[in-house]
Amino acid sequence: MIIVMEVVATKEQVEHVTQLLREMGMREHVIVGTERTVVAALGDERKLDVGRMENVPGVEKVMPVLAPYKLASREVQRERSNIPLGGSLGGAAGGKKIAVIAGPCSVEDRTQLLEIAHAVKEAGATGLRGGAFKPRTSPYAFQGLGEKGLEILAEAREKTGLAVVTEVMSIDQVPLVGKYADVFQVGARNMQNYNLLWAVGEQHKPVLLKRGLSATLEEFLLAAEYVMSRGNNQVILCERGIRTFEGYCRNTLPLAIVPEVHRVSHLPIVVDPSQGTGHAHLVPDMCRAAVAAGADGLIIECHHDPEHALTDGAQSITPSSLKNIMMGLTRIAQAIDRDV
Ligand code: PEP
Ligand code: MN
Repeated sequence: MIIVMEVVATKEQVEHVTQLLREMGMREHVIVGTERTVVAALGDERKLDVGRMENVPGVEKVMPVLAPYKLASREVQRERSNIPLGGSLGGAAGGKKIAVIAGPCSVEDRTQLLEIAHAVKEAGATGLRGGAFKPRTSPYAFQGLGEKGLEILAEAREKTGLAVVTEVMSIDQVPLVGKYADVFQVGARNMQNYNLLWAVGEQHKPVLLKRGLSATLEEFLLAAEYVMSRGNNQVILCERGIRTFEGYCRNTLPLAIVPEVHRVSHLPIVVDPSQGTGHAHLVPDMCRAAVAAGADGLIIECHHDPEHALTDGAQSITPSSLKNIMMGLTRIAQAIDRDV
């Protein structure tokens, strides 16, 4: 951290700053310039409160050098993390091969899920999504099948080998969801549910962490840090669109986050073009764009009968559309030295 003193700062004020740094377990390197003095704080600056330091008399501004997250940062780990999804098809997020996870928004019944799961596998995906616990805006809307839904997902995994990615909404659901899921999905609405993040941080399965509707990249990575700080390094970030003033889509999908995450973090990032746009007709192009931008995976809502889907039918593509998308993605992936 660099502490820039005011031009008029006194020697005593500079000494006070160095004393404060030492109290915080840091060391200082004082650079006396012709105009002003700058104090470089040496040590783990993440423990330092920027706001508090900025209020100290004689301090003009404080500039952190390190990102506030540590375990998630590239400063700590240069090479990209490659996180296996589970299941028996060898899917992973973060390697050369791009992970495709597809399935319905919600598990509705056994016939529906098994039919979609077989189609998803046939299209070439390695992961199956489907919510058994659904975070719905309205308390009167379909809330998911609960444990019954999880049992159906486990049966689909047994029959297809697909890794099961499903949402956990609260701490008390963690043991139950963990019994059936390969990957815990933490939804956008729970990105800052810190107790839930700690709870999945104590598990030994990957966590697909969705970006909050109005979370900044820094907040998103700090949420990942919560999970990792409890020992679970298997965090897969998921961009699912943010809320903006725009009305033609349900959410605005900011794909520039993909290369930016790769610059500042070693964690893989997958893109959800379904929640990200809200419209099935926008999904294929956003899949292609996400892969071209370097996404480590896609999580796509796919339904054999979107018109009758209990949740998110408008943004669900059909299995035949998924198959077409997958074929096209192969060529895009090749162009950037990846596989699908
Ligand atoms: C979903 O995946 O169906 C979902 C509810 O996602 P999000 O948490 O991103 O809204
Ligand atoms: Mn959905």
